[in-house]
Amino acid sequence: MDCVTFRKLIGPYLEGSLTDEELNGFLCHLRSCPECRDELEINYIVIEGLNILDEDRSDYDLSKAYDQSIRYSERYIRFKKNLLIFRYMIDTIAFWALAAMTFFYFYTLSGMDLLY
Ligand SMILES: [Zn+2]
Repeated sequence: MDCVTFRKLIGPYLEGSLTDEELNGFLCHLRSCPECRDELEINYIVIEGLNILDEDRSDYDLSKAYDQSIRYSERYIRFKKNLLIFRYMIDTIAFWALAAMTFFYFYTLSGMDLLY
């Protein structure tokens, strides 16, 4: 992802409307580009700052909230990747179990005993 695309996605990121694929690319770029990281933090602080202004919460730490927001997004993407790996593992196990059962089914059908 390049800086222009990243900056176009800042609004949707803050609204929480990015797809998982967009979020993954967004976070990868965020880790590697300090300029975009600053841009996102400024946008986050302005928008979140306006939100908490209405709630009158003077003790609210915007920088900490920003860091937590990024950490939460990274944890979410890591969880989704692990879920995908787990699904592939289950699919692979199911495939080989089915293949083995099919093999033994036809092996026994052929009249040959497995013990000999
Ligand atoms: Zn950038």
